[in-house]
Order: sequence, then C-alpha cells, then structure tokens
Amino acid sequence: MRFLKVLFAILLVAAVITGVIYWLRRHRTEPPPTPTPFETKGKLQVVALDVGQGDGFLIISPGGKTALIDAGSAQAGDDVVAALQRRNLRTIDLAVATHPHADHIAGLRRVIGKLTVSNLLDSGQNFASDEYDRLQRAVKTRKVQFIKAKKGWKFSLDSGVELEAFNPRGDGRWITNIREGGSVENANSVVLRLSYGNFAMIFTGDAETDTETELVKHKFLLRAQVLKVGHHGSRHATSEKFLNAVKPEAAIISCGNDNRYGHPSQPTLDRLKKSNVKVYRTDLGGEIAVISDGNTFQVSTARQMNLASLWQGRIELEDLLVQPKKAAAKSKLKKEEID
Ligand SMILES: [Zn+2]
Repeated sequence: MRFLKVLFAILLVAAVITGVIYWLRRHRTEPPPTPTPFETKGKLQVVALDVGQGDGFLIISPGGKTALIDAGSAQAGDDVVAALQRRNLRTIDLAVATHPHADHIAGLRRVIGKLTVSNLLDSGQNFASDEYDRLQRAVKTRKVQFIKAKKGWKFSLDSGVELEAFNPRGDGRWITNIREGGSVENANSVVLRLSYGNFAMIFTGDAETDTETELVKHKFLLRAQVLKVGHHGSRHATSEKFLNAVKPEAAIISCGNDNRYGHPSQPTLDRLKKSNVKVYRTDLGGEIAVISDGNTFQVSTARQMNLASLWQGRIELEDLLVQPKKAAAKSKLKKEEID
C-alpha cells in the first residue's frame, strides 16, 4: 500500500513537471499578437514582417486575398510561416521573389512548403545558388504557377486591389549598366506598385539608384503614399530624384538589428528626413502594419520605436576594418550572404 502511495506521488510529481514544461514551451513559442490597433475588416493591409536582415511583405486585400513579396532568409522562414498561420492564412494567391538573393527567397521556400501558394512572380534572372535551386525545386514539387515578371504585368488581387510591375524590363532585357560594386540581381529586382482606390504603395526590392533613374525616365506612375525603401536603406538607393517622383508620406525600411552591411545608411535617412517622410524601421519597431480604406492610411508598429535611434544610420562592418582588409572581407562574402 505504502509502495503504491509513493509510486502515485512520483507519478503525480512527474505529471506536474511534464505539464509545466509543456506549458512553458507552448507559451515561450507563442507568437505575439498581431500589432494592428486599427479596424482591419474590409480594409487593405500591408504588413512588413519582422524577418531580421531581409525583406518580407504580406498584403491582405479587403476580400481576404493575399500576396507575399519576399519572405526573408532561411532563418526567418519559420517566423514568416508562423506569422501567416497566426492570421489563419492557408493560401497565398501571389508570392513574389523580387530577386534571387537568399535574404529574400529562402523564407519563400518554407512558405511554399507549408502553405498553398498559387503563383510565384519571379524576376526571371539566371542566378546559380543552392538557395535559388531549392526554391525552383519547391515551385515544381508544389505545382506553383511560375511567372516571369515584366514591366506592365498586372495582377488583380480583388476588390480593386491591383499590383503592377515596373521592373524588370522583361523579354531578356536587363539593367546591366550599374555602379561599381553594385549587383545586377538587385538592379533587376521586381518593382511593384500596389494600388487600392486612391492609396498606393511602391515595393522596390533591392533596386538602387540605377533602377530608380530608369523608372523616373520611363514616367511610370510612381506617386504613392507609402514607399518600401529600396535595398534595406542602402546609401545607393532612394535618391532625391526618386523621392521627388514618388512623394511618399511614409517609408518602411526592412533591415536587421545586427546587420553587417550598414543598413539603413545615414545619407538615405537624411534624404528621407529632408523630404519630410515619416520613417518606420523593422529593426526598431518589429512588425509594421499599414491599413488603408482606399483613401487614407494608418501605420502601426509592434514595438514602440526609439525616436532617438530612428534617424541614426548603422555602420557598415567593412568600414570598421582597415583598408587592405576591406577588399578581402568583401571578396569573402559568400553567395548566400549577399544582401
Ligand atoms: Zn536584400
């Protein structure tokens, strides 16, 4: 009898411990609530997902259709999937790989593996990397419709929500005349304009000034209330000319807390400030949501941004190295590390 009592006590203690461990695990991994204090029903939502160093933008139309422009790095992939599942999303109507760098596409592969993705809009560039190969394999296995982007291509999400591609040029024509040290893949990023009534937002991927100049020259309808700042706030993107053409009221910079590339850069922040643009940064505010009724828009951040840091650029890791080491460090950047 006594033996049974002891056994029962041991089992009870073990059950309580297991229960506590299970509870702690569950609650530790429980994602934070959606940081949108505004009414979202019947409105257009654009969410800059908190993917660290990379890009990941979710669009939900008033009718519940979805688009996902990039989905961060491999490390961010699970967080992106969790962010989508938290919103009870099972299907992505249009996924976009702005260009084949890992900090944009690796997470997309995870999403394609876990959710039903109907279409993938790709920049269509030839790029040899393991990550891009894996993405293409996932597209085939999961029977995702593969679409090569081309300027003028339009996609109607629903309820008057439309996406239009301004870049790449398509038909095998690429921007190759780029700045020294720049990236052809970045220059040929898919650039999209999202519109809903009188509201518009521009997504530039990692395009820099060479691309911006072409867009301005071609007289695309660049005006938009919100700008997804090009190339994580790099000094080589978001030129004054481009800002004058877009005339954004708000700008979102997606970048990581500990990035080695110096994103966002001080000159870009200065240009945004000079143009009176309200800036939101994922490295400071976490997930950022833009809600629009087709006329006005509201922005909220998951965390309160430290205003003292908002206009302060980050320092490029290589700038801290002495000159001879600088070149060596640059050449050592692996393909998977190109931002
Ligand atoms: Zn990038």
